[in-house]
Amino acid sequence: MADTILVTGGAGYIGSHTTLALLEAGHEVVVLDNLCNSSLESLRRVERICGKAPLFVQGDIRDRAGLDALFAAHKIDAVLHFAGLKSVGQSVSQPLEYYENNVAGSVILAQAMAAAGVFQLVFSSSATVYGEPAQMPISEDVPTGTPTNPYGRSKLMVEELLQDLADSDPRWRIALLRYFNPVGAHTSGLIGEDPNGIPNNLLPYVSQVAIGTLKQVSVFGADYPTVDGTGVRDYIHVLDLADGHLKALQAISQRSGVSIWNLGTGVGYSVLQMIRAFEQASGRPVPYQVVDRRPGDIAECWADPTKAAQELGWKAERCLAQMMADTWRWQSGNPQGYAQ
Ligand code: NAD
Ligand code: UDP
Repeated sequence: MADTILVTGGAGYIGSHTTLALLEAGHEVVVLDNLCNSSLESLRRVERICGKAPLFVQGDIRDRAGLDALFAAHKIDAVLHFAGLKSVGQSVSQPLEYYENNVAGSVILAQAMAAAGVFQLVFSSSATVYGEPAQMPISEDVPTGTPTNPYGRSKLMVEELLQDLADSDPRWRIALLRYFNPVGAHTSGLIGEDPNGIPNNLLPYVSQVAIGTLKQVSVFGADYPTVDGTGVRDYIHVLDLADGHLKALQAISQRSGVSIWNLGTGVGYSVLQMIRAFEQASGRPVPYQVVDRRPGDIAECWADPTKAAQELGWKAERCLAQMMADTWRWQSGNPQGYAQ
């Protein structure tokens, strides 16, 4: 298994939890992040948790000279590529920013990797590449669909260009990890998700209502053909996701070409089920109001995680109650996120 790992976007939500898991597993970690959506405090806290720190380089994946200098200074064995922009709404109003960071940034990173002779890459993709799937649960052989926004299209474009790259040169060993809905925080309550401004995603929004920062949750539609009319998603604990990355790294050291794995639990929960579970975990009321559907949303989406279980020996271990308890511990201990 590779031993020095470059983690792009390693100061962010999923990147910081995965950096911690890598350090705990004995890897050397170099984090490259431009801090456009994160704070160095996350990595200081990673060090508090495990007593080890990653090497931090403040820089941008679009900066080829900076990448070349990084690869020259450190003998990197593999890259976990989290860096990118992730707000669906913002991607609609600023599409070029999204294509530049997510698509052009990934191209430049891959070029710098090839120049440095580094060919192992794990890419953060998303279940959004399936578009509106005709069947549930979603297995990896369900064809990719038509994502409904520039963010989703940027993820699909990167998946496709990485496939082309691997077809062109057998030295590449690439994992495309399609995340379902990452939630939760480290059990210490020291690191977690720290969204900028008003959260777009359900659970950060719910937890800010529970703490009193926001007044009530807007439930986007209660007329879907689901268990209670609200949208159903496959929420996965960020610590399970982090473990999945370590398993994927191990796997691609043994297999060439592109491998695709869903990272989900295989179980879906509705918006109302999530709100109730959060009320239970926090002991706080979470008032909500049903409003119109959010454009672009699908009714339901959950993973068939069989392929990851068979090929990686990985499955999500943490239940909904733990996702909620860990989110609440982080939220209540850090009401302003890292900014305090
Ligand atoms: P995040 O915003 O917390 O982390 C992304 C990190 O990348 C941030 O620290 C940011 O500062 C950095 N970054 C952004 N553009 C950069 C650039 N050009 N150069 C260097 N650093 C840059 O997001 P996250 O939730 O941790 O997501 C990580 C990855 O997983 C992203 O690629 C995201 O699209 C993908 N993903 C996330 C979710 C989710 O719900 N959180 C779901 C599916 C896929
Ligand atoms: N949702 C909601 N209110 C919110 C945010 C989200 O009702 O303030 C719903 C959304 O319609 C979807 C689910 O919660 O059914 C998960 O949405 P999220 O944005 O967290 O993730 P997505 O699956 O859209 O990537």
